[in-house]
Amino acid sequence: MFPSRDQIERAAYDRWERRGRCHGADREDWVAAELDVTFALNYRPLVEYSPDGDEPGRIGSGRKPRCRFCEQSPPRARFSKTRSALPEFMGNPWLLTREICDECVAQFSAGIDQDLRRFWDALDGLRRGRSSDREMRAPSSISIPAYKGLIRIALTLMPEAELSAFTDTIEWVGNPDHDFDRSLFGGVGCLLYEVYEPSTRPWASLTTRVDDEAQVPYMLSFLGSGGLVVEAQVPLCSRDEDLDGNDVRILQRSFTTGSGCDQRSADCFALPLNATEPPRPRRFRMFK
Ligand SMILES: [Zn+2]
Repeated sequence: MFPSRDQIERAAYDRWERRGRCHGADREDWVAAELDVTFALNYRPLVEYSPDGDEPGRIGSGRKPRCRFCEQSPPRARFSKTRSALPEFMGNPWLLTREICDECVAQFSAGIDQDLRRFWDALDGLRRGRSSDREMRAPSSISIPAYKGLIRIALTLMPEAELSAFTDTIEWVGNPDHDFDRSLFGGVGCLLYEVYEPSTRPWASLTTRVDDEAQVPYMLSFLGSGGLVVEAQVPLCSRDEDLDGNDVRILQRSFTTGSGCDQRSADCFALPLNATEPPRPRRFRMFK
């Protein structure tokens, strides 16, 4: 679903008003309005999490735990404690879950969580210095295990009712053979945003497609920390079967931050999937 010219024009005008009617950014207003209106027509928020006060949030009731990844319950699986739903690099545990067993935690911690951690650490240059240069040591692609690390977070966060559409995804995330089914994804990896004004709190969210006829993936996941946001399609969803073989677009957002006249859209980069090579320093290419 794409917006009409009128819809974009209205949104661009609203944006100009929100910026205090400052002139000189007409083109940016238009581009950002087009991205955000297109996104809003195609996706609705499903869940959004961010630290809130001193008490960590919780996923699931925890009374009768069942692991989302191996589908086991006690006594077949051990749940020795409540776990952080997000990897450590997202800050102190502020979101907890009982829906992952000890064995799956151990498998992820020794595997894909570490790959995601390395990917995240490689973005450090970007996180600390805003737009200072484009020569920073930052990855130009995302490895399959790091991508699995992102998706395992999405699976941890999604409401239970959604899980039935992601049984293949769960199996794929748990499979240590990272080249398995690689051909299904083409080169699609993730979008990386460098936002203008860093967020003071980490956050994670999921959005779902409004219209099943639209040629866009059913679910997108977002992970934000400091000045960075990573957006990825949650792959292998049974609701995306109609998209197979088609050119699938991952819709971009403007992630406008700042206040008054001093508001800017985020810079956005497409990081393709990389099968075997680890992230290495390379010049960024702008995503268009
Ligand atoms: Zn498990």
